[in-house]
Amino acid sequence: MTRRSLPLLRSADASLPPLHARWLDAVLADPSLPEESNATCDDCAMLADPSLPPGALVFSPDTRCCTYLPTLANFLVGGALRSASPHGAASVRRRLSEGDGLSPIGLVADPALVASTHTDQERFGRDASLRCPHYEPVGGRCGVWAWREATCATWFCKHTRGERAKALWNRLHQLLSRLERAVAWHCALSLDIPPEALARMAPLDLPHGAPRADVSASDDALWGRWSGDVEGYFLACAQLAEALSPAEVLSLGGAEARALAATVRLAQRQLLDDALPARVALGRVQVVGLSATSVRVQGYSHLDPLDVPRELFDQLHRFDGRPLEEALREASASAGQEVPSGAVGMLVDFDILRGA
Ligand code: SF4
Repeated sequence: MTRRSLPLLRSADASLPPLHARWLDAVLADPSLPEESNATCDDCAMLADPSLPPGALVFSPDTRCCTYLPTLANFLVGGALRSASPHGAASVRRRLSEGDGLSPIGLVADPALVASTHTDQERFGRDASLRCPHYEPVGGRCGVWAWREATCATWFCKHTRGERAKALWNRLHQLLSRLERAVAWHCALSLDIPPEALARMAPLDLPHGAPRADVSASDDALWGRWSGDVEGYFLACAQLAEALSPAEVLSLGGAEARALAATVRLAQRQLLDDALPARVALGRVQVVGLSATSVRVQGYSHLDPLDVPRELFDQLHRFDGRPLEEALREASASAGQEVPSGAVGMLVDFDILRGA
């Protein structure tokens, strides 16, 4: 088992939605992001497979990872109405007509519902009653792919570089969520949503300026001059968002966005730094499967275990905080073959080993 070289993609070519990818031009001098080639959305890596050990965690083909109700900021609603797949546009219209969480800020999912379902491992990826309305049951694709929100854009079931890649995506999630909110408020202000409506959408007691999910969308006063043309309002939001330069978007996000951008750059530097720790000890190690030749070990994530060859697994106890070179020498002598430092690097990435 050797560490794979890190496949990188320019952000514009990665799986990010086009607007989000463009915003990163104001954040990253080197726009390279990991290509998460193990998280194969088109051929879901989490479905049942005869090669998996008994009891392995799998997702349902009826939901895949999309047991989630996304919050779509106003400009994402407009973009999806304009250019999503027929299913995607219809699913957005259905949410608009149902009115849950609908306001000039967009379609806001109930945060309590999202939190409860996202952390429930039994239901996540399996419970069809939680399936996202934008998920296309035939073909298992996202109906609003190019206009999906930051959580959907940065979440992967598997990461080529384990926890270190996940750390970068998590930082991007924080930043892009902040920018989405800033652009959504900018659109509402620019399109003359009345101050009384803004006051009802933005109470001071919600964290991080999150918009409320319980504003009554049927109230005409909420829409100002757009009352009677809610779709037109959302389409105008998409146009406004597309006209913003990356620097303007970052500026709309204020000091908080600039601080989050700094954390994104730090996480990217840490990901690209291949140096191994001087001393290494066991990290989170949980055996979740066995075969004749390998041991399936869970480290940083229950969704992304690693199959460690038995010869290497049997040497893991030698990494006990002593200098790495010494541990590698002993492990290689005992295994009767060289234990490559690249394999140790991969175990560190997956938090099966960690710096001591
Ligand atoms: S918006 Fe798309 S990616 Fe996100 S949960 Fe729904 S179907 Fe899945």
